[in-house]
Formats: sequence, C-alpha cells, structure tokens
Amino acid sequence: MDEKDINNTEIEKKDTESKNDPYEKICYVCRRTESKAGPMIDMPGNMCLCHDCMQKAFDMVIKGGIDFSKIQNMPYMNLNLNDFKDLNIPQTPIPEKQRIRKKTAESRPSFDIRDVPPPHKIKASLDQYVIGQEQAKKVVSVAVYNHYKRVFDQENRKDGSDDVVIEKSNILMIGPTGSGKTYLVKTLARILDVPLAIADATSLTEAGYIGDDIESVISKLLAAAGNDVEKAEHGIVFIDEIDKIAKKKDTNTRDVSGESVQQELLKLLEGSLVEVPVGTNQKNALSPMATVNTDQILFICGGAFPDLERIIRERLNKSASIGYRAELRDRYDEDADILQHVSNSDLRTFGMIPEFLGRLPIVVTLKKLTEPMLVKILKEPKNAIVKQYVKLLALDEVKLVFEDDALEWIAAEALKRETGARALRAILEEIMLDIMYEVPKDPGIGTVVITRSYLEKSGGPRIEMRG
Ligand code: ADP
Repeated sequence: MDEKDINNTEIEKKDTESKNDPYEKICYVCRRTESKAGPMIDMPGNMCLCHDCMQKAFDMVIKGGIDFSKIQNMPYMNLNLNDFKDLNIPQTPIPEKQRIRKKTAESRPSFDIRDVPPPHKIKASLDQYVIGQEQAKKVVSVAVYNHYKRVFDQENRKDGSDDVVIEKSNILMIGPTGSGKTYLVKTLARILDVPLAIADATSLTEAGYIGDDIESVISKLLAAAGNDVEKAEHGIVFIDEIDKIAKKKDTNTRDVSGESVQQELLKLLEGSLVEVPVGTNQKNALSPMATVNTDQILFICGGAFPDLERIIRERLNKSASIGYRAELRDRYDEDADILQHVSNSDLRTFGMIPEFLGRLPIVVTLKKLTEPMLVKILKEPKNAIVKQYVKLLALDEVKLVFEDDALEWIAAEALKRETGARALRAILEEIMLDIMYEVPKDPGIGTVVITRSYLEKSGGPRIEMRG
C-alpha cells in the first residue's frame, strides 16, 4: 500500500467514526450544530468548520487575506496538531457537557401513551412519598396524564387534520413554604422518568439585565436530559417562587424582574422555539446553541403567595356580606384552608398578569402541614428521615428507635419554626448529633431509644446494651 492508499483508508475510517458518533459536530467559528449549519469540514485537532464559515474565510482571502492567528479563542487554528502529538493538547475542543446529541431516526422512539401510567397509578406512586395533599396529588396526576395524552396526539396528528386540538395545560401550584411543592414535582418526574429542571423565578430577569435570561430554564432542562433535545422536549420545568415576580404596585421604574419576566415567560409557557446555549446559562460566542421546542414541555409554577389568603378572605367576605350569605362571613374568617377558594381575580389582585394566568389553567393548592401530618412525614414515606437515621445507625449494628411521643415533640417543634416539613430535618440533625458522635465509641451498645424526656432535656436517651 502506498502512502496515498494509507491516507485514504485513514480518511474512510474517520468518516465512519464520525457517522457513528452520537453527538453533533459544532462549527468552531459560529458554534452552530451540523443539523443547522449542514455538513462540516473536519480540521486537525477535532475542529470542524461549517460551509458558511469556510466560504467566508475564502471570501476574505480573495479580498486580501485573513490572519486566523489574530482571531481570539481559536488557539489551534494556526497549529498543525500532528506536530504536537507528544504534548498533552486536549483533543476535544468542545467540553463534554456542551456536546449535543444527534437527532436520528431511532433516537426518537415513537411516544406511546401506554408508557404513561394512568392517573390512579401516578397518584398511588406519589402516595408512597408525599404525605397528605390528597387533592393536589389527584389534580396533578390527571393533569400530567392529560398532558402526555396531548403530546401523543400531537405526534400522531396528520398534517392538515382538522380534528379537535387539545390545548396545553400548565400548572400553577400554590402552597405554604415546606408543604411539599418541589417534592411533589421531583417525585412526579422520577415516577414518569422524564428530565426535570428546577428554576427560581427570583433569579430570572428580562433579557439584557443582570441575572439569568428566561431561556436559562430550558438550558437547565437540556442539561438534565443529557443534552438530548428530544428528551428535553418531553420534560418538566418547575419554576419556584413564582409569586416573587408579581407586578410591583405603584412603581414608575422599569419592572425588570416582575411584570416583564411574566411577559417573557409567556412565550415559553405556550410553546415556542427557543435558541439556548448548551452546557452553560450564558450566551456567548463560544457556547454551542441548540433549538428547543417548548410546546410539549410541562411547566409547573409554584409559590407560597403570602398575603393571598387575605385577598381571598376579603373577596369572600365582600360577597358574603350581601344579603342572605351574611352567615358565611365568620366561617371564612376561621377557614384554615382558605387557599382552596382561590380565583383568577385573587391572583390578579396579587399581581399576576392575566395573560400569564391564562397559560396556567390548572391551579392546585397545597395545605399547610399539621402536626399529625408532620409525624407521618417523619416516619412513613419510602425514604422518611427517621428511616434514614435508622439505616445510618444500623451500619454500626445499633438499633435506633423513636418513641411516638418523641416524634410528636419533633413535629410540634417544627410547626413553631413555620417552615413546614423543612424544619424536620434540621431538628433531627440537632438531636442526632450527640448520639451519632457517642454511640460508635462503645461497641457494647445494642439499642438507642429516643424518648421525649431526652428531647425536653430532662433525661438521656434509653440505651440498651448487647446480649
Ligand atoms: P416547598 O413547598 O417549599 O417547595 P419542599 O417540597 O421543598 O417545600 O419540601 C421540603 C422537604 O420537606 C421535602 O424535601 C420533603 O422531604 C419534605 N416534605 C414536604 N412536604 C412533604 C409531604 N407532604 N410529604 C412528605 N415529605 C414532605
């Protein structure tokens, strides 16, 4: 074989390698992917150039030359990497997390509605983790099931079909801090095995201002889907603290993190094509861009909406004070679950704009957790906190037992902190510190019983020795 033949086989080998590579090639100059910019020209050092950029380079050469070495961020351009084999020059100029998966015929297994569990099964799975919040779990199970039915319908819809179009139904979740909003969504995504991105509305600002662009939410989802655009397009986005982007009252300055963020979110919520940077939430010349269609992404917005209860009560009392419903007034004042009466107009009074609310047609309310619910959260869910500590001590071959009235004491203490179930972990951490420090010292200890008197600091935990 002469040298030319060897070169040709090398090229053919590289060709098949690049066909089998599941990731997209990205133009080193304009950062577009091959699915957008067309076939790429491979250069030394695993660099690629798209035809447009190559053409531009030729045009510039014709106009009077071009010095690639002067272009920033193109350190390899004026090197022949084959001369530097022994040096450890990175062979992949595109970092792993910025690589985008190729779209292939087999990478899109046709979406099958039979893969999505029916609402009662979704709820049964949620029940294993989320305590209480029965109505919320039911509404969410049905909403999610319907959402994926819509996805299925869209993917199987024939072009030009004038059949009924199912509209998108994103969810608004209202409930006090620590009542399980995030936890519910996380559990849901795990049950359905879809990617999930959790974003905080307070960090979002209108494009061009300091803070994250709205599209950063989709960048996160893409990262959660392993840079697989199609997987991301069937995912769930949870935007927390949505109440913090309520319209500011009586302000003359530009509302860059309130009303305008709501405005910008509209296009994401209703479904549009967005261009997002891959592997980073900053758009810059070096990050590759991917186009994601948000039409089939389920958006769930959650918030505590403080003060909303007062708004609801005021509205209800106003209508109750008219005529025969006057006796209802006192009832509303005492109603602990007043949130369930929330209406669109209450949310508008709170500062959400009507267009935004229009895109979140399903409203779910979560209840404030009560003491008995907190006790259940401590011990019942599949990965309950108490179970976690029992397991930790079991690794030291020590049995850990919590007496019932000790658990009640913890729940009552958590209620005082007003951060819902979040306080439970912090309290347990405080209680268990000494025990986890002392117990491994004495191999004779067989059982530790946490009693109420220990928590009230009037006694110690009950220790039983082995044998
Ligand atoms: P938020 O409503 O503020 O989003 P989270 O979902 O973050 O509250 O709840 C904080 C933690 O409390 C969760 O990680 C979970 O462990 C626990 N938790 C809250 N509510 C429940 C619940 N209803 N059932 C079980 N665990 C819960």
